[in-house]
Amino acid sequence: MSGAVVEKSAGESARVSGDARIAVEAGRRRTFAVISHPDAGKSTLTEALALYAEVIDEAGAVHGKSGRRGVTSDWMEMERKRGISVTSAVLQFAYRDCVINLLDTPGHGDFSEDTYRVLAAVDAAVMLLDAAKGLEPQTLKLFDVCRTRGIPVLTFVNKWDRPGREALELLDEVEQTIGLRPMPVTWPVGVAGELRGLVEVATGEFRRYSRTAGGATRATTELVPAEVIAAEEPQYWAAAQDELALLEEIGAGFDEKDFLTGTATPVLFGAALNGVGVARLLDALVELAPAPEARDDAEGNPRPLEASTSGLVFKVQAGMDRAHRDRMAFVRICSGRFERGMVLTHAATGRPFATKYAQAVFGQQRTTVEEAFPGDIVGLVNAGALRPGDTLYSTEPVQFPAIPSFAPEHFAVVRGADAGTYKQFRRGIEQLDSEGVIQVLSSDLRGDQAPVLAAVGPLQFEVVTARLESEFRAPVTLETLSYSVTRRTDAAGAELLKGQSEVEVLTRRADGAVLALFSNKWRLETIRRKFDGLVLDALPAGSSE
Ligand code: GDP
Repeated sequence: MSGAVVEKSAGESARVSGDARIAVEAGRRRTFAVISHPDAGKSTLTEALALYAEVIDEAGAVHGKSGRRGVTSDWMEMERKRGISVTSAVLQFAYRDCVINLLDTPGHGDFSEDTYRVLAAVDAAVMLLDAAKGLEPQTLKLFDVCRTRGIPVLTFVNKWDRPGREALELLDEVEQTIGLRPMPVTWPVGVAGELRGLVEVATGEFRRYSRTAGGATRATTELVPAEVIAAEEPQYWAAAQDELALLEEIGAGFDEKDFLTGTATPVLFGAALNGVGVARLLDALVELAPAPEARDDAEGNPRPLEASTSGLVFKVQAGMDRAHRDRMAFVRICSGRFERGMVLTHAATGRPFATKYAQAVFGQQRTTVEEAFPGDIVGLVNAGALRPGDTLYSTEPVQFPAIPSFAPEHFAVVRGADAGTYKQFRRGIEQLDSEGVIQVLSSDLRGDQAPVLAAVGPLQFEVVTARLESEFRAPVTLETLSYSVTRRTDAAGAELLKGQSEVEVLTRRADGAVLALFSNKWRLETIRRKFDGLVLDALPAGSSE
């Protein structure tokens, strides 16, 4: 059904031209990522969303559910061995009259700086919580990045089909822990594990979900009059009514401005596994989540959506095709209409970049992209010169702000395993540093032969080791360091911290930042108390510290 709607919209938009068409197409886009902790149900939810929508795997073409999951790519031995997908998937689907771009945020063992960078390319995030667990560490880290970037967050409380915590308690945790005011959009009737249905908070309508067997399936829903459910489930209904009255009293009503400015979050309940509340989440994305807006350039001037084509590189993937040692750059279109074959300018170098091989990437599946609009993601091959944070534009020049480096939590000293390959080793480290694969830190004490690698997730070390060996013929050894917390300090701080145990000060090569590494947060606190006025600033995504 949604396919037919899209066709109509596409036809309509073809009749308008130029700027108006860009505005119409951009207005239909919803580009978001799911932020969650492993096991909260992100894959299940992704699958369920795709089931309710229609997956688009070619420009404009809607194809049932052909693009569903099974997306582990096998671009490196390492990836095959561990059965993880390093290649970020971008799922595009049509729902109602919108085009939804869902960007994957790799988690588990594949959590890395790229996971955070994905958030530079979205307009909204869905914070997925396990009803029994509430806020978990990885969710908090990703939320921190959303907050720093001003990304509006919707919350989906998942697994309501099985015993968990109370709804009010979960909302309270969200408010107390991250200071985000919850605004329930739906409210569960029946405790977790005994879900009878969901009430639409704004209207009071009750929707019953029929039980379905396991595996992502569409739940069938039925509007049930209040008197009927009140008679059937007097206790659960009364409890829900009490809770709704309480919510009204404390002013939990929906406020669009608070959502868009990141001070409040619409909350929906459901069970991705049974399809409960999934269509409602899609509706919320369409109705509440913002469409792409004019993005600020490096000077803070908004680049209008109707300006000529521009895009932001948010991730560069190396070695997706072993035979060709290619680089694929994932670009978020920020303004204008992208058309395959157009020549863009790489803002960092002023060089032209041909886009003949523009692709949509969903795991291993790649299809040619003929055109794209603000909010869409395009994969560009042969992108050896592009780096995360780079800008591309067609006619009117623009430079978007760089994507910041994130707080590393894993550290290792890297050394060439073979003295004869030192030159290759050095070149390789420089190259991987410039590509943003890993952060490279150094100090006089450690010298150039044994720099410190700093990562958000351990996967980054594996990528570095594998690429140094295969691309640069420089096998290396790694020695893990037991630091876990990073703060930015300055030259005076570096002086003060000299000789302190469980602390080390290093300089990040890429930007010259002076970073203090601590064994743990208690050591950090002790040092902070010891030295009055010592500069120790948190880096982005530092909530775990
Ligand atoms: P991810 O690690 O966040 O991608 O989580 P998965 O989607 O792989 O889900 C983790 C586990 O939770 C799997 O066993 C799922 O079947 C299960 N799961 C996901 N959603 C639900 C749900 O709504 N209800 C229940 N009972 N289990 C769920």
